[in-house]
Amino acid sequence: MTTRRKFITQTALAAGSFPFILKVTADQKINNFPLVISTWDAGLRANAKAWELLKNGKSALDAVEQGVMITESEINCCVGLSGNPDRDGIVTLDASIMNHLGDCGSVAALEQIEHPISVARAVMEKSPHVMLVGQGAQQFALANGFELKPKKLSPDAEKNYKEWLKKSQYKPMINIENIGNKTNAPNKLENGQFNHDTIALLALDNIQNLSGSCTTSGMGFKYRGRVGDSPIIGAGMYVDNEVGAAAATGHGEEVIRIAGSHLVVELMRLGKSPKAACKAAIERAIKLRGDKLKDKQIAFIAVNKQGEAAGYALQKGFSYALYSEKHNNELIAADWLMG
Ligand code: ASP
Repeated sequence: MTTRRKFITQTALAAGSFPFILKVTADQKINNFPLVISTWDAGLRANAKAWELLKNGKSALDAVEQGVMITESEINCCVGLSGNPDRDGIVTLDASIMNHLGDCGSVAALEQIEHPISVARAVMEKSPHVMLVGQGAQQFALANGFELKPKKLSPDAEKNYKEWLKKSQYKPMINIENIGNKTNAPNKLENGQFNHDTIALLALDNIQNLSGSCTTSGMGFKYRGRVGDSPIIGAGMYVDNEVGAAAATGHGEEVIRIAGSHLVVELMRLGKSPKAACKAAIERAIKLRGDKLKDKQIAFIAVNKQGEAAGYALQKGFSYALYSEKHNNELIAADWLMG
């Protein structure tokens, strides 16, 4: 006959011993999932979608894809096809996605497709590759049922481009990455907030799996063919399901130089909190580049496996949106190091 005591012991051994069970119990005290964190003000709208999916039991992967699809379709947002064009007047899009298994996909310099993030997911799920670029990426998208959208610029982008052509100077602005000045920047919203050309979103789902996404029209008026950090796995976004996930926004070249998102995840692996890891990555960039960062912005968001999440920026003005049981889709102003 199996006594109660014997039954508990046997179950514990079958589950992989008592220490494991005790650890899970201890971790539950700090666990905070599901959770969504994303960049900038547009993150609030993307988070709302991602949160709804997570609450309905969907995976982190579905949440990170469908969350940023909201932003990609926003008309007055600089992400997606309504974003600013390159210096030849053509909108080119970069995006990346990664799941808890290390599967990832990305596209760069993709034209005329509304949802580059979904093409990135298709690259991950339906091709043997990680990254497709330019015409090849578009060809792959069309072959997989995506629709070709007109080449036409959005009214805002057209206005911005005409203004930019007057001087034709590539001069990204901190937190705006656009022309004009902070008081009359063309992408200033009625509520006084600014739109940005990138959204990155990280999610931790009900079964504690992580995924990440990042999608952008890139720096406005960039050279034709320029690719930023966003579609580069490990630079613009990275997920390691044992440790955490991170993503970046801002001046892509500076993020690429330090393999930023991978660096943040590795710093979390070494025991840093998400906030401390983001800060240390910014410090690394400063150490590497010093004064060359004076007129640039870079920022990171990160979440660890337990659902601690935060962001940190090089310069003042970066905010991130956080949604969990503890944070009701709050827009949080990140701490910064310079300026
Ligand atoms: N990181 C993006 C890029 O360099 C731009 C941004 O985040 O605003 O393309």
